[in-house]
Amino acid sequence: MKDCIFCKIIKGKIPAKKIIEMTNVIAFEDANPSADTHILVVPKRHIETFMDINKEDNEVLVQMLRISQDLIKSEKLEKKYKLVINGGEYQFVPHLHWHLLGGEMKKEAK
Ligand code: 5GP
Ligand code: ZN
Repeated sequence: MKDCIFCKIIKGKIPAKKIIEMTNVIAFEDANPSADTHILVVPKRHIETFMDINKEDNEVLVQMLRISQDLIKSEKLEKKYKLVINGGEYQFVPHLHWHLLGGEMKKEAK
């Protein structure tokens, strides 16, 4: 596993506000939220980008989807949410994640 910032959060080496966890996936609050609710849904395995997902990751993807649905329900975001995956120059942390954004977007958010 690479020693990237999200791997460190997953290993508990640096703190994060964890919200929910499954065997293969963790969700925690974004440190610099772009919306009222801004949660990162992250596989525990170090997959670098969206394009690196392979067929062994089917269970990971199912858990990412399931956790997202559970969060949309538990955070009451049904009326206003987005799921966003950044890639290429838009991706700053080189460990696959998607953003669950809910409620109002902050003005500075793209
Ligand atoms: P992306 O790579 O999709 O462009 O965005 C990475 C996201 O990770 C950003 O929204 C940023 O605020 C968030 N982020 C970067 N470093 C940390 C960190 O150490 N902890 C947490 N909780 N979020 C982080
Ligand atoms: Zn990583």
